[in-house]
Amino acid sequence: MRIVLFVVFSVTVFSACFLGMKDKNPFKRYGLYEGTDLGLTYTPDSSTFRVWVPEAETVYMNFYDQSEGGESYVVEPMNPRENGLWELTMPGDLLAKFYTFQIFREGGWLPEVPDPYAKAVGVNGKRAMVIDLAQTNPEGWENDQRPPLDNFTDIIIYELHVRDLSTHPSSGIEHKGKFLGLTEMGTTNPAGQATGLDHIKSLGVTHVHLLPSFDYLSVDESRLDEPQFNWGYDPQNYNVPEGSYSTDPADGRVRIQEFKTLIQTLHDNGLRVIMDVVYNHTGATETSNFNCLAPGYYYRLNRDGTFSDASACGNEVASEREMVRKFMLESLKYWVEEYHIDGFRFDLMGIHDIETMNQISSTLHEIDPTIFIYGEGWTAGDSPLLEPYRALKKHTKQLEGIAAFSDDMRDGVKGHVFTHDARAFISGQEGLEESVKFGVVAATDHPQLDYEKVNYSNAAWANEPSQCINYASCHDNHTLWDRLLISAPDATEAQRIKMHKLANTIILTSQGVPFLHAGVELLRHKQKVENSYNSPDSINQINWNWKTEHEDVFEYYQGLIAMRKAHPAFRMPTTALVQEHLEFLGSPSTNTLAYHIKDNANGDSWKDIIVLFNGNLEAREFEIPGGDWQVIIKDGQIDQEGMGLHKGSKASVSGNSALLLIQE
Ligand code: CA
Repeated sequence: MRIVLFVVFSVTVFSACFLGMKDKNPFKRYGLYEGTDLGLTYTPDSSTFRVWVPEAETVYMNFYDQSEGGESYVVEPMNPRENGLWELTMPGDLLAKFYTFQIFREGGWLPEVPDPYAKAVGVNGKRAMVIDLAQTNPEGWENDQRPPLDNFTDIIIYELHVRDLSTHPSSGIEHKGKFLGLTEMGTTNPAGQATGLDHIKSLGVTHVHLLPSFDYLSVDESRLDEPQFNWGYDPQNYNVPEGSYSTDPADGRVRIQEFKTLIQTLHDNGLRVIMDVVYNHTGATETSNFNCLAPGYYYRLNRDGTFSDASACGNEVASEREMVRKFMLESLKYWVEEYHIDGFRFDLMGIHDIETMNQISSTLHEIDPTIFIYGEGWTAGDSPLLEPYRALKKHTKQLEGIAAFSDDMRDGVKGHVFTHDARAFISGQEGLEESVKFGVVAATDHPQLDYEKVNYSNAAWANEPSQCINYASCHDNHTLWDRLLISAPDATEAQRIKMHKLANTIILTSQGVPFLHAGVELLRHKQKVENSYNSPDSINQINWNWKTEHEDVFEYYQGLIAMRKAHPAFRMPTTALVQEHLEFLGSPSTNTLAYHIKDNANGDSWKDIIVLFNGNLEAREFEIPGGDWQVIIKDGQIDQEGMGLHKGSKASVSGNSALLLIQE
């Protein structure tokens, strides 16, 4: 590449200093295009197209009758305006026509692509489509409302891939692998137990977090009759839903209407919807929409001009650049305003700069303060963006209204993700007590924590509990059940079930925001496949017969969630409240943990709560405050109404289990 770009930080002086030379960013002279009208402006009388192309001799638009194939029926040059803007107005009603852009620079034509601002595309996202968004609204859309939410700590997240819910024959769902599969009610498995949406609703979670549902590259939408699967972390068109999840990928309107129907149906059923967003990289690099319109601009480059790769996927997006930041802000706003999305999970958030993330937070929270934003506070490789500027977990205190995943808690509970046979707290490995305690207080400041003993962090990183996502497993790495099969091969199935229940008992009683991998409540496994991003449906899908086989596990998870929702003591909104009401008690041995939530914390009807965890294989006896205690959780069973009285100041907790006692 002829033009060598250098990373531009928000503080130019710093950048120049870091590079030891003057900033040679050639795009600088174009400044920022301030308008919010990039992309298509449609009326029945004319369509106006605006695209930001900072370095081109000529820009042409190609118009087509069809979504793919065939010749363009007209090719028109665009008109250059100021600040890198190119513009074209076409008279007449272009509804349902398709279009692409193509630029000429340095003596050659680049591939034709849709613009990054496209809101509708045809099959495989190769051509944008002229649509009237108002025509994509499902019936009653104008009355669609977000379900109520008081505090972020009231959230319970369920992380789901669209296909996984419905592809197994036992789902009883008609629209297998489709957005519409999540809208079907009354579906059951062969034993007559609820599946799909009814199942999620009865589990009691508050938010459904969908794995990438924007248009991604890896599934060929033109041959959906053949088996294909991908998680979708390879973005193609950021502002368009994925075509393979629709019933007709060739008609750009269908996927929009069907995704809106999904959101509307979940809202009608009291569930909020979170999108997994992957602005940190694109699926293609040289041939991406970004790069075919503004070569190099959207990406960070190494000093030798090659693409830097903090995503480990071939490139990394330069969120700190003005037009990239503007793109991200407008894209996210669009999902909130047009689709009524309730939250975003940022993939590899550590690739983004802190300033951009804070602008995203303030922009979205201005629209609705209950929109929940969180991300992976790490990168997958080194980045030219210097560490102090990265939106990393350890910088969460600088991120306003943004949460991060706690890998401290995740690996403290079940073991280091990359050491597959490593045991941890739930499976009898000592030395992780402080990491679990750190999760219990949601990575906040607490006087009884010894931060030096926490596995990955040596200080609190959350200002408030709502900035910490506590989890034991997610789509990445092994499922919790597979992990236990690998790391505790000598345990009996009954013991592994106890460990599994203990893991999410810890997650769902801890402060912060709990996060569950879909199907974990059914002992979901993937035949020990670690990263199933392109494994077939047979590995990834939820088998709804598991619900019949492990009904007891499902009911236990359901009970844990119901208890958390009924008892605000487990979801204190402030660090001050946690410090005031949560006190760790002495533990009888290694690999045990005990704490007391006291004095009707956060307005709870329970005056005192004692939580005891025993990760050892054998029973342990704990010292507790004396008196008569009602038993709520014991030996992998839960009953909020109580399972009898416990008297005295000693309590025995069986191996790999929790005991939860209360006084009203
Ligand atoms: Ca696609």
